[in-house]
Amino acid sequence: MDLGIEGRRALVCAASKGLGRGCAEALAREGVDVTICARTESEVAKTAADIGEATGRAVQWVACDITTPDGRAKALAACPQPDILVNNAGGPPPGDFRDWDRAAWIRALDANMLTPIELIKATIDTMIERKFGRIVNITSGAVKAPIDVLGLSNGARSGLTGFVAGLARKVARHNVTINNLLPGQFATDRLRVTLEGRAKAAGTTYDVARDAAMAANPSGRFGAPGEFGEICAFLCSTHAGFIVGQNILADGGAYPGTF
Ligand code: NAD
Repeated sequence: MDLGIEGRRALVCAASKGLGRGCAEALAREGVDVTICARTESEVAKTAADIGEATGRAVQWVACDITTPDGRAKALAACPQPDILVNNAGGPPPGDFRDWDRAAWIRALDANMLTPIELIKATIDTMIERKFGRIVNITSGAVKAPIDVLGLSNGARSGLTGFVAGLARKVARHNVTINNLLPGQFATDRLRVTLEGRAKAAGTTYDVARDAAMAANPSGRFGAPGEFGEICAFLCSTHAGFIVGQNILADGGAYPGTF
């Protein structure tokens, strides 16, 4: 299927690896002019070169911390007025809510709620003017089924989800869509760190914890960042203009509800 977005400009945040990288690669394969960002210059530059080689489409890059005003300014200077915005950042640490002070909450809110809102604010008006815009926020399956130790994530991402639900309906008539893509367990570095922690707590090995987690998923496996990227690319396509304000769960069936 031709997604109809060749030549469009995309800013994909936090994309030197993992899910962000998967999204960047899928968009580049569709002929989109992609700019990626991540904090470490050597890593983001290498990823841009690797995606360029794999897709035949040059990828721009910028080293910045997207959760800071300065970092966002750098990203937007590298990719002014994108047609496509993929919001992403690292997730907050796990823990017990009794240990989280105001500063911990502000960090989580900054990264996983206010940063995407700031980037939407900076880019959406020109999308409206051009009558084309696609915004995908990478959130988490924890928005639908909260994970107890990830309270910072549950809270901050739910705030973003509520905000987006309102705004998405205000901009849809301009062919600007905003949707959230909710990952379940995808085989990335972040999942590896989570499973290593779980293995340590249970006094077992990483392999045992990984195999148990895979077996517990109805699909019997973890998702691959590439397949996450393909879903994102479809949501950014010309064909997805009627998908508005949705929370698309990609979790292999882990969420047990009927709806
Ligand atoms: P990852 O650790 O594999 O990759 C994260 C990427 O973000 C890296 O490129 C890193 O350099 C970049 N990054 C992190 N903080 C940044 C910042 N402040 N500024 C710029 N770049 C930054 O993680 P992932 O698994 O791809 O996760 C992406 C998001 O999805 C996270 O918020 C995570 O919590 C969420 N999530 C992931 C899973 C999963 O199973 N992988 C499940 C649910 C939610």
